[in-house]
Amino acid sequence: MTLDPRYSRSVGLFGASGQNLLSSSRVAIVGLGGIGSHLGQQLAYLGIESFSLIDHDLVTDSSLNRLVGATAEDVGSPKVDIAKRTIELIQPGADVRAWASSFSDASGTGSLDLSSFDVVFGAVDTDPVRLDLLSETSACGTPYLDCASDVLVEDGMVEAFGGRTAFNFVERGCLACFDLLDQRELRRATMTPEELATDDRLYGVPRSVLNARGPSVISVNGVIASVGVTEFMVWHVGLRRPQRLLTYRADVGGVRASLDDPPEVCPYCDMYEARRTIEPT
Ligand SMILES: [Zn+2]
Repeated sequence: MTLDPRYSRSVGLFGASGQNLLSSSRVAIVGLGGIGSHLGQQLAYLGIESFSLIDHDLVTDSSLNRLVGATAEDVGSPKVDIAKRTIELIQPGADVRAWASSFSDASGTGSLDLSSFDVVFGAVDTDPVRLDLLSETSACGTPYLDCASDVLVEDGMVEAFGGRTAFNFVERGCLACFDLLDQRELRRATMTPEELATDDRLYGVPRSVLNARGPSVISVNGVIASVGVTEFMVWHVGLRRPQRLLTYRADVGGVRASLDDPPEVCPYCDMYEARRTIEPT
């Protein structure tokens, strides 16, 4: 393959073979909001030419402070359309498929084959969707890189803010066995309105609901996306072992890697390993 001169500065880091690996890889991004829009832009500049984009949400006035590529004229448009446009401006020859629907609806149609991707990026707002992504990628034997922002608000005051990346299955370990999913939020996703009202009375309204429209700024999202894309890049081209879990504390300034080992038993990690054993790629 002849190397495009636009990648000469990237090749200085990971070589022509690494660039060719990236250019021929296939990625899916679920969630094209504050973090996902950065992911699309960076992956396109990195040389990725095959994208599948999934997000049911529309651009609003309040997303214009952080949605990469969006202008005031885009308010009301699907976020996947903005991401597709941004990627195609950077990579005019890219194959970009877009689903303006929820992840469950897109995967339910059968037209979204998660086993066909080198990696699935997740930049979604809720843990029930993260659990769906974890379950489906483990069953397909596809690594899943989850990027999330987090803001801790106590009594109306921001106590901490930042986010994290979790590279599920690339080595053993995932959101479930590292206990990174909010069990109460997952239980509430299956409750009736009456059960939710009872749950609110017994335990109070959860933080995930109170912060549904919490603070979100472009620079913090950009760091989280950059950390995620870098972990994908170093893993895919073989520069170094990727970190399973990286936490960004923007309130104190720093990125920390978790050194915890995963437990020996995890249904999602076991499923992934069984699938990879059956169908090595
Ligand atoms: Zn696990």
